[in-house]
Amino acid sequence: MITAGYRLAKANAPFCKNKWRNPGWVLHSYQQYPDRDTARAAFDFPLPVAIAALVEGGPADQAGLRTGESFSDLPGGIWWGADPVRHKPSFALVDIVNIRVNALFDGGQAVGLLVRGKPGEAERRVTIEPPAICASYFIISSNGQDDAGADGQYVRVSAALAQYTPDADEFAAIVAHELAHNILEHRKRLDAMNVQRGIGRMFGKSKKAFLQTEMEADQLSVWLMVNAGYDPAAAVRFWQRRGPDKDKGLFSDGTHMGWRDRIKILQAEIEHIQTLNQNRLPHEPPLLAKM
Ligand SMILES: [Zn+2]
Repeated sequence: MITAGYRLAKANAPFCKNKWRNPGWVLHSYQQYPDRDTARAAFDFPLPVAIAALVEGGPADQAGLRTGESFSDLPGGIWWGADPVRHKPSFALVDIVNIRVNALFDGGQAVGLLVRGKPGEAERRVTIEPPAICASYFIISSNGQDDAGADGQYVRVSAALAQYTPDADEFAAIVAHELAHNILEHRKRLDAMNVQRGIGRMFGKSKKAFLQTEMEADQLSVWLMVNAGYDPAAAVRFWQRRGPDKDKGLFSDGTHMGWRDRIKILQAEIEHIQTLNQNRLPHEPPLLAKM
């Protein structure tokens, strides 16, 4: 998940308005798991927040960081002591560390981190200088649903949908669609129009605005894929597989386009891209030229 997300966000950085320097890791805390003792037994937590996953070949990976390691000297310090949320899974500590770490990288220079590994291992200093890429967190959610989403900050793919999509290019198509929503600031646009989602069916102006964002995300997604070296036809293949499966399912909510229309939109964009010189990447996506 983060490797696909990182690759898409890095390759398309020249066209993103909102960028951040991303080290290419996902952090986690045992606090976020329903059963903390099991989480502590399953993963290494030298401190309550540790590296859960690394982007292969990303800045943190190249700097020699490993999963299961923590940072011990973040600016402002972190109070690891009491644990006010006893029974409810909480991302509070991960959020605190992410904010501190992002502030460090904001400066634009190389950042030194004091890294703590397994008990008994000496702390070591690691220097990392990540490039600026399109800003989004990439997460796999285990909410039991078979879906994906984007809220302006996060790109989320459910574990069930990830399992349904083992092909790397098809999976990248899902991530690219959601990342496109964030790059195009769709959440902001819909919020400004007061479009309410998830409350029954949408009508009139709300529905039209929502469908417009879906179409734009599909259009932009294949450009993002090509720039990151993914096969854009995988987006079509995904819907050829998913569409008929969805028709059989219960979760057609009337707010999304039909899958046949989506394939047409994707194919039109792919044809447009094919008219360009493929030796000159990245291509500027038309939807981002005016941003
Ligand atoms: Zn969408």
